Amino acid sequence: MNNSIEKLEDIRTLMALFESPGSLDGGGVTRLAYSPEEDEMHDIFRDWGERQGFIAYTDAVGNSFLENDAATAAAEEGEPCILIGSHLDSVIRGGRYDGVAGVVSGMACLKWLKDSGRDIPLRVAAFRCEESAGFGRSTLGSGLITGVIDGDDIADFRNPDGRTLAGIFEERGLDLHPQKIDGVSAYFELHIEQGKVLETVGKEVGIVEAIAGPRRFRIVIDGQADHSGATPMEMRSDALCAAAEMILAVEKIGQAESRFRSVATVGIVKCGPNVMNVIPGWVELGVDTRGINTISIDRMEQRIRISAENIAQERGVEITMARQYEDPPCEMSPHLMDELEQAARAVGATSQRMVSGAGHDALSFAEIVPTAMLFIPCRAGISHNIAEYTTDEAICTGASVLLNTISHH
Ligand SMILES: [Zn+2]
Repeated sequence: MNNSIEKLEDIRTLMALFESPGSLDGGGVTRLAYSPEEDEMHDIFRDWGERQGFIAYTDAVGNSFLENDAATAAAEEGEPCILIGSHLDSVIRGGRYDGVAGVVSGMACLKWLKDSGRDIPLRVAAFRCEESAGFGRSTLGSGLITGVIDGDDIADFRNPDGRTLAGIFEERGLDLHPQKIDGVSAYFELHIEQGKVLETVGKEVGIVEAIAGPRRFRIVIDGQADHSGATPMEMRSDALCAAAEMILAVEKIGQAESRFRSVATVGIVKCGPNVMNVIPGWVELGVDTRGINTISIDRMEQRIRISAENIAQERGVEITMARQYEDPPCEMSPHLMDELEQAARAVGATSQRMVSGAGHDALSFAEIVPTAMLFIPCRAGISHNIAEYTTDEAICTGASVLLNTISHH
């Protein structure tokens, strides 16, 4: 689609506002949760809102909000409003679009509604600590206010400086047990895709059908660490060779389930003793499986377990597998997906339905209100990396789809 010059200029101006906090040589940013850099991002967000005449406030966990007069009036009547949100923190050496593009799209919608004199109640949120890089757990800001995360469970989590979340909350006068957010009729989030699908198929926006749920395992392989020169080939139990078979088995299992849009990855390999002249006696693998179909995810787990038993037997090693972490897949609201699709058509943006392989703040909101996500392409699918890039045009197109959606909601 062709964006208007005025709207593009708005996106450019908004993105530029957020440029400096945590900027690194080479183009990326580091804005960890509850750090001065993240604080600065939130200050910029609220300051812009106040200058534009919107109401700006912070909630009990430090999330920032802007709302227009129509939203304030609606709240006084006990009527809900639409919420557009995303986050302003980043991973270490991350990009400047992950999260920010979504917050900027919401700010643009606020401005464009005001410019055109339309009284549509809209709130825009900038959430804290979406990235697990801060405290080892993702979507804290949105999770706490939706009741998806219990503050007691994360109080002792520490940031890279070793400080606990409870300590930081106390110092800042925040509350690990906030009131649940209310007055929201629907939640929308625009986000860069963080994958290559849209770029590959040449579509301008992606309408997320479901957010994949990760299920992660730790696999430990115990063999025998022997002298690599003195131990004949037939007398070995090489844990790393067993691990190699295990890794390929996981790949094959993921491939077989890809028609259900599941994926399986071995992302961690630790080898002991990791010495040139010793047969590896011990290996740990970290396995990440994800999908939107629970039956497929269950089947992957079962097949990985069977593979582990078979490889253990054939190779004379011991293999133990433990589930480390699990989040169920999360479906987006079919009704809101239709609305996004119609809006994309109305503004002339090409669209495609797709799966989100990564988690987002939308996961928290899907638990309490109808929720939808809109993806925009990012260059080569690169994200969580200083090379992350998307165009102002792409953000503007996505924001225009959101504007059209909320205008007809
Ligand atoms: Zn993000």
